[in-house]
Formats: sequence, C-alpha cells, structure tokens
Amino acid sequence: MSTLEIKDLHVSVETEDGPKEILKGVTLTITSGEVHAIMGPNGSGKSTLAYSIAGHPKYDITSGSVTLDGEDVLAMSVDERARAGMFLAMQYPVEVPGVSVANFLRTAKTAIDGEAPKLRTWVKDVNGTLERAGLDPTFSQRNVNEGFSGGEKKRHEIAQLELLDPKVAILDETDSGLDIDALKVVSDGVNRFAEDDDKAVLLITHYTRILRYITPDHVHVFVAGRIAESGGPALADELEANGYEKYVGAAV
Ligand code: ADP
Ligand code: MG
Ligand code: MG
Repeated sequence: MSTLEIKDLHVSVETEDGPKEILKGVTLTITSGEVHAIMGPNGSGKSTLAYSIAGHPKYDITSGSVTLDGEDVLAMSVDERARAGMFLAMQYPVEVPGVSVANFLRTAKTAIDGEAPKLRTWVKDVNGTLERAGLDPTFSQRNVNEGFSGGEKKRHEIAQLELLDPKVAILDETDSGLDIDALKVVSDGVNRFAEDDDKAVLLITHYTRILRYITPDHVHVFVAGRIAESGGPALADELEANGYEKYVGAAV
C-alpha cells in the first residue's frame, strides 16, 4: 500500500524575464489501487508536474511538498526516487547513445533492486515483456530511443513499466502520436499494471482518446497550473464532449 501526496506544489522555471511560475498550488493524493487521469490543455503545466515529481533540474520547487509514504520525494535524488518505487515515463524520452535496450533495462533493474537480476530468468522475462508490448525480441539490441518511432518509444515505456515494477507510475502523454494498434497495446500494458491493487497510476494526457481503453478512478482537469476540477470517469466524457473551453475561460 503506497500513497503519493502532492501538497500545494508551486514550481517555477527560469526564463529570460526571470522566474516564471508554472505550477500554482497543486494538491493531489494518489493511493495504491487507483488510476488518476490528469487532463488539460497544452501549456497548462502537466509535463511540468511530471518533471517536477521526477526531479528534473530545470524546475524550481518554490513551495509545497511531495511525499511517498511519508518520505520526502523532493529531497531524493532521481535514482532514489526510482528506488523508492516511482516510475516516470517522460513525454520526450531522451536518446541514450550506444546503450542497448537490453543493457539499459538490466542496468535500471539492477539499480532499483540493488542486485542484478538472475540472468536465466531475466532474458526470458525481457523477451516476454517485449512480446506483450508488441516488440520483436531483436528490439533489445537497438540503442535506446535511437530512431525509435513514437509507437516504439511508448511500447518501450510499457516494457520498462512491467520489468521495473514500480509502486507508482507517472505516465506523461502516453497516448500522443500512437496509432490505434499501439494505443491498444500501451493501454493493455497500463491496465495490466493497474490491475494489481498495490499499484497506483497517474496518467497525464491532453486527449480523452486513451480513456476509452483505460478507465480512471479519478479525473482531474488541469488548467493554468492547478487542478480546476476533480471527478469520476464521467468527467472525461464531459471533457470529450465540451473540451476545456469553460475552464480556460474561467482561468484567464
Ligand atoms: P503541458 O504539458 O500541459 O502542455 P508544460 O508543463 O509543458 O505544459 O508547460 C507549461 C508552461 O510552461 C507553458 O506555458 C510553457 O510555455 C511554460 N514553460 C515551460 N518551460 C519554460 C521555459 N523554460 N521558459 C518559459 N516558459 C516555459
Ligand atoms: Mg486498480
Ligand atoms: Mg506536456
């Protein structure tokens, strides 16, 4: 059982004109067994929230707190966050030149578990995971994110999610740029993960499309750096029908 607690989080970025506040007091609690969807227009600060929780150095946390089971996440290094059980799939995953998918996954798994996975079962696990993500076993010999299509990046994220087995998964724009087949595979992967009552998911998305395949327990409308409204799955249907207009109008 885990709880990720975000309290009154304020985050700024440095711009040419000085610091600019992007997150303006985000409060959100996510507990095991729950899937939360954060939905909002472009530029509302959704990725900033994900990056801030991930510990990206560009984002300056000016006030507020993030804790995982009471532990101060903001005081942890990026590695410590992963070891604590947090998985943060980024909207624009970086290339890791010269590092194969196989080595990357093994290194990440070793870092998180504190010991290397058993070689015999590991290869089997990796191949099974890649297959479930709709990736050929030869994919493990490719360099991480080098020349990956949008779909391959997201499938690779899902493979990481399964193998690294975190407590809390934060997925940013997991659906962007996916064709329908990839969207199904990725949604199935998230659903398999979320089936386990020990797991929590924060799914960040601009589009309602993925929510036809993943049913969130809670939906939050994110506008201008804060949560404008929270509700159940029906709120996603309402957004699909009416868009963000009413919230954006209110926020300006
Ligand atoms: P979303 O993921 O919801 O589309 P982002 O978190 O990517 O939103 O961006 C939120 C806001 O922060 C945007 O208005 C963006 O222009 C602004 N922003 C992010 N980084 C910088 C920066 N380095 N300088 C100025 N503005 C920035
Ligand atoms: Mg569940
Ligand atoms: Mg974004």
